[in-house]
Amino acid sequence: MSELSTLNIMYLPGVGPKRAEILKQELRVVSYEDLIYYFPYRYVDRSRIYTISEMQPDMQHIQLKGHIASLRTVGEGRGKRMSAVFTDGTGQVELVWFKGLKFVKGSIQANATYLVFGKPSVFNGAINMVHPELELYDENKSRIQSGLQPQYNTSEKMKSHFLNSKAIQKLVFNLFQSYQGKIPESLPAWIIEKYRLTILNDALRTIHFPKDTQLLEKARFRLKLEELFYIQLNILRLKNQRTFHIKGHIFNTVGSYLNLFYKEHIPFELTNAQKRVIREMRQDMGSGRQMNRLLQGDVGSGKTLVALMVMLIALDNSYQTCLMAPTEILAGQHFETIAEQVASLGIQVALLTGSTKKAERERIHAALRNGEMQILIGTHALIEDTVVFKNLGLVVIDEQHRFGVQQRARLWKKNLNPPHVLVMTATPIPRTLAMTVYGDLEVSVIDELPPGRKPIQTMHYFHNRRNQLNRFLQEEMDKGRQIYVVYPLIDESEKLDFKNLTEGYEYMQKSFPHAQVVMVHGRMKSAEKEAAMHIFASGQAQIMVATTVIEVGVNVPNASVMVIESAERFGLSQLHQLRGRVGRGAEQSHCVLMTSFKLAEETRKRMEIMTRTNDGFEIAEADMKMRGPGDLEGTQQSGLPFDLKIANLTRDSQILQLGRDIAMNVLEQDPLLEQAPNQILVRQLRKLARAKINWGMIS
Ligand code: ADP
Ligand code: MG
Repeated sequence: MSELSTLNIMYLPGVGPKRAEILKQELRVVSYEDLIYYFPYRYVDRSRIYTISEMQPDMQHIQLKGHIASLRTVGEGRGKRMSAVFTDGTGQVELVWFKGLKFVKGSIQANATYLVFGKPSVFNGAINMVHPELELYDENKSRIQSGLQPQYNTSEKMKSHFLNSKAIQKLVFNLFQSYQGKIPESLPAWIIEKYRLTILNDALRTIHFPKDTQLLEKARFRLKLEELFYIQLNILRLKNQRTFHIKGHIFNTVGSYLNLFYKEHIPFELTNAQKRVIREMRQDMGSGRQMNRLLQGDVGSGKTLVALMVMLIALDNSYQTCLMAPTEILAGQHFETIAEQVASLGIQVALLTGSTKKAERERIHAALRNGEMQILIGTHALIEDTVVFKNLGLVVIDEQHRFGVQQRARLWKKNLNPPHVLVMTATPIPRTLAMTVYGDLEVSVIDELPPGRKPIQTMHYFHNRRNQLNRFLQEEMDKGRQIYVVYPLIDESEKLDFKNLTEGYEYMQKSFPHAQVVMVHGRMKSAEKEAAMHIFASGQAQIMVATTVIEVGVNVPNASVMVIESAERFGLSQLHQLRGRVGRGAEQSHCVLMTSFKLAEETRKRMEIMTRTNDGFEIAEADMKMRGPGDLEGTQQSGLPFDLKIANLTRDSQILQLGRDIAMNVLEQDPLLEQAPNQILVRQLRKLARAKINWGMIS
């Protein structure tokens, strides 16, 4: 479609320099092609005309035909509005405008027949319509016959320049008028035939100007399938290339480190799920191919232990290994647990973070280079170019969602032959999203918690139950338990949040004069943070008041109560993460969600889901349904083009699966995409890459 992509939207009739600038700013629409791919977000059926006598308050948008009997301005100041009486012979209804009064007044013609389009609402017991669309009937007769009307999203700024949905529709209409050619196909003919798809030219015209719902559905199907297919083809092709070009370090020795550790250092039996995922990884690492695996498992499912065992396999094969965590606190915790667990095996372990002192840093650097240092644990300080390994065989990345794709990629380059990569995440990812964001990774799932864990009990309290909460907290402390109290910390109102946090800290001190309270937040120096963490972890303090810095990984088994203040300000997966900080010991744990009374419907639902289930996957699915994948935590950095133009990862999972199947099928038959009929695929992939779509890949 090279032609369409080189035609500048500025020269389209009805656009011009000013509107072109707005289209570019607001929609990133620059070329004809961009506009064609700016799809309607829904359609309304305007073939049906309702009568005023049929109107009901709970109707969706409807269309009336009639004329305006009278028009007047009423009210003063903020209540000032334009009110019209509209009649169609079956009754009358009030139309109301609060904005653009002058414009409405100036444009309404007496005695003309109008089409009114809007949603009925109720005011003072009577039905009215607020801010309806008005069109002259005579000018729009032909459109009524076509029925389905596209609706385009537009911004406030666009509307103020009269670029509303209808105007966009008009521009697209002009575009197809001035571009009479056939839009070139972007899928191979054999795929079109095999799956009986609408050809691109027809699909694009139909998506903007549907003749009926059936054709529209076929067009939408084709465009969705194409979008998801190319994402899958791209991911799977890169994965293929990796398999072709990269030789994996072969770990075929089962040596003494793993055996000793397994036999003598684990006080419990591994769960079946842990055994299974370790087996999956051993297979990868013994195969001669490079492992790229995502390990998913809910908080507390024992991923860290699995990672350590896999790391020991690397050591048994004389390779070095490193583990990267998203925060210093976490890296420090991993270091402590792991160093303690492997101490008696005589393994060299070091911790490297941004605050490692220069002398220590140099010592570590040297020991890594000469190969003495076997396990390195740290933050993104590990990625720096000054960190050079003698022979790095395995990289483990914990809590993956905090790391950008680029950071992952840099770890690859730490050895001439890229190391095996194990990515661990405690944020369960819905299947469709995983297939898309991590489509290049193999996936292992730990779907079983160690035995004996009691499910966390979650309660939702409004603020008026604070006394009751305090009594409960006192009881738990009397039993010897520890408590987290978490406050939100969001950049926009950092000052206010900080005030809430310190007030919360003082409040807890005052309410529990016999308890020791510590505070941890992101503004503290890391030494201070660590000191406070230590006081809490050692059991000296009973209460920790903190921001979400404790969200991931922190492990204090005796802490069995998590209070989340202003819980309405957290997303579902974040709430789940926070809750995962408790329930790590043998005691019954509790999570209390504190909110104000006034909750939006969606927030109420979030609280309801949290109190109902502990299942991370169910929560992740619900989160994606409620917010859409673009807002899911961690996906921002994943680099996936979440501005999917038409497909929806929640609703279109079957189409996604089909797209993936087709892509696999293509690559099985033509792994390097060399065959003539597939050249269109190569061109299209290149074009998508040029469009600077970052596909969420290590490449
Ligand atoms: P995750 O990293 O998945 O959140 P961890 O590896 O930190 O979980 O494990 C949580 C706790 O459970 C740790 O204290 C760990 O020692 C313990 N644990 C891990 N696997 C088992 C098991 N199979 N049986 C009993 N306890 C286990
Ligand atoms: Mg963990």
